[in-house]
Amino acid sequence: MEAACDAVLDVIGGAHGPYSGASYDRLRDRLADTTALPAEGHPLEDVLAAVREDVLANAVHPSDETCVAHLQCPPMVPALAAEALLTASNQSLDSFDQAPAATVVEERLIADLTALYELGPAADGVVTGGGTESNHQALLLARDDYVETVFGQSVREHGLPPAAQDLRILCSADAHFTAAQSAALLGLGEDAVVTIPTDGRHRMDATALRETVERLNDAGKHPFAVVGTAGTTDFGSIDPLSAVADVAATHDLWVHVDAAFGGALAVSDQHSERLSGIDRADSVAVDFHKLFFQPIACGALLVADGESFELMSRNAAYLNPAGDAVPNLVAKSTRTTRRFDALKPYVAFRTLGRDGLGALVDRTLALADDVAGLLRADPAFELACEPTLNAVTFRYRPVREHAHCDPGPWADHVTEAAREQLFDAGTAVVARTTVDDRAHVKFTLMNPRTTVADIQSVLVAFKGHAATIEAADRTAPITTAAGGDQ
Ligand SMILES: *Cc1c(COP(=O)(O)O)cnc(C)c1O
Repeated sequence: MEAACDAVLDVIGGAHGPYSGASYDRLRDRLADTTALPAEGHPLEDVLAAVREDVLANAVHPSDETCVAHLQCPPMVPALAAEALLTASNQSLDSFDQAPAATVVEERLIADLTALYELGPAADGVVTGGGTESNHQALLLARDDYVETVFGQSVREHGLPPAAQDLRILCSADAHFTAAQSAALLGLGEDAVVTIPTDGRHRMDATALRETVERLNDAGKHPFAVVGTAGTTDFGSIDPLSAVADVAATHDLWVHVDAAFGGALAVSDQHSERLSGIDRADSVAVDFHKLFFQPIACGALLVADGESFELMSRNAAYLNPAGDAVPNLVAKSTRTTRRFDALKPYVAFRTLGRDGLGALVDRTLALADDVAGLLRADPAFELACEPTLNAVTFRYRPVREHAHCDPGPWADHVTEAAREQLFDAGTAVVARTTVDDRAHVKFTLMNPRTTVADIQSVLVAFKGHAATIEAADRTAPITTAAGGDQ
């Protein structure tokens, strides 16, 4: 146990750097002779020593200041304490008699969250494993509510009616892929998702939304839900939630707000206004394992009308027989056995308070603005869009032309190769994406300890790699990974 605690302190103390740079092949070779299931056991101390050497030494370390790729946060210490406790106590939220106080803690957390997002007195929710699960469950409830209301059919009991092939979900062109994934899992097909164009800041165009809904209705389709995003993955952009809710109110659409990333703004006095309109949502997905700095996995689905969970609830004689006097949360979840993840935000939020949490959020957003300033001032880089949250997306402008290659693919090549070299050298972990079919790199600045100077040094290293690549590849044939693959 002590050895494990020491290893934890190394990890969160930044003893490892962002990454060792080890390749997949090297890691596979290194672990080739170990088996997860030896015939005979070894002392725990020895097993943990090997884990430190083989695994932790080759993990990416989001607690390092230059691990700035994804929405992978440095987990905060109070939540790590809660994580150890909830795992040791092993409560399972599917029935009261497996999780008595834990059931009440989750209810308290959900009540505070529905109040935070002002979802009204009938609101309810459930802790989930993250945005994917929350978005899926939200659209399941929206679909079943619509089919029951319009076609008088219970999807839970009888499946989808023939008219289900005309069901449509609307979201912006920059919405997370889980909207399409949910449609596929819900038996509607990805074709059921109609994307709405975005403006220059990657926000849904509400006028286009209205026109699209009208067009779909005229064509005899059944648009039933709109997904507004509060914090898109690549740009942090926030759809105009009030205007989206206006369109939804006119056309009777379920409004789901995917606030997996941006939901944390609600605790910031400085930025909470940007979520205005979220109180009009029928459902909200929020992730704690992103900008709330909780260890993976931890999210929540909130619904304005708690009764809507009835659409999916069921009774199992061994867990929640009908008429039971205590809450058995299994009826609100797509899972059965479910971790007591609610304890993490419960402990962390009580420790930091709203002010403490808000200060962390504000810090990372301010850093993103400063980093955007660095990129704007440097002719070697081109910012894709002003950051709204703390995702900063940009590309590299080669200094020299390629002998035979067009400027676009050449810049793609250098941008992507320099990013890879940063990773392989273990200097920094930064992300990639494509914007308008061109390769970009992205900083997702999740670490409140990261400074502008840290990022400045990453940019200097990036330019160093880029210069070497330009010199070496200027006449070589170029193939590039970028090009339309979102
Ligand atoms: C991260 C994210 C998701 C997916 O959530 P997971 O927690 O990874 O399952 C969905 N939507 C948005 C906007 C996200 O940022």
